[in-house]
Amino acid sequence: MASSTEENYLKSLYNLANAEGEVNLSELAASLQVSMPTANSMVKSLQKSGWVMYEKYKPLTLTKEGKKIAALIIRKHRLTEMFLVKVMNFGWEEVHEVAEQIEHIHAPKFFERMDQMLGFPTVDPHGSPIPDPQGKITPLSYTPLSHAKPGQNVQLAALTNSSTEFLEFLNSRNLSLGTQLSILSKESYDQTMVVSYAHHPSETLSEKVCERLLVRVLE
Ligand SMILES: [Zn+2]
Repeated sequence: MASSTEENYLKSLYNLANAEGEVNLSELAASLQVSMPTANSMVKSLQKSGWVMYEKYKPLTLTKEGKKIAALIIRKHRLTEMFLVKVMNFGWEEVHEVAEQIEHIHAPKFFERMDQMLGFPTVDPHGSPIPDPQGKITPLSYTPLSHAKPGQNVQLAALTNSSTEFLEFLNSRNLSLGTQLSILSKESYDQTMVVSYAHHPSETLSEKVCERLLVRVLE
């Protein structure tokens, strides 16, 4: 069974992997805020466990088993975030830090009950998919708001970034998953969008914000 530290390495490797599934050791060390030698020795031990493939001077990749362990940690993280929001009434901006701790609990019973109490959700409070019990993730097929056109109606479905700062910004604009927006105009100079939604007849959103909002196009 992986330790909490090992689990965090596997999770980072999973999240940092490019399309080819590769991660550089320096990126991994930076994301975990550890030194290169520390990351290097941990990676060697993960390799011994059969979870990581590592050759000197080559990028790291997760083995099939390593990938599954990582996906199941992400499953526990996202289920926990959903539980904190739906059952314990936390705000979506408050749940990440708590989930970072709870995701390391190993008792399967605990998460099975959580899943059941929530009615087997498929996404977390930020719209990110929850991997299934076998560690399979169904990728999202939403459009960034920045790609939508004036005149279109869209529904906010997920986020590409769920940092506390961004979630607090969305709270301040009363934007949450499920909000339906009409796109009034788009500035060709800087891609700023003017949108309207419930109680907000005209709200301006920057390109940066529009890129981080994933929507379902309604018409
Ligand atoms: Zn989180």
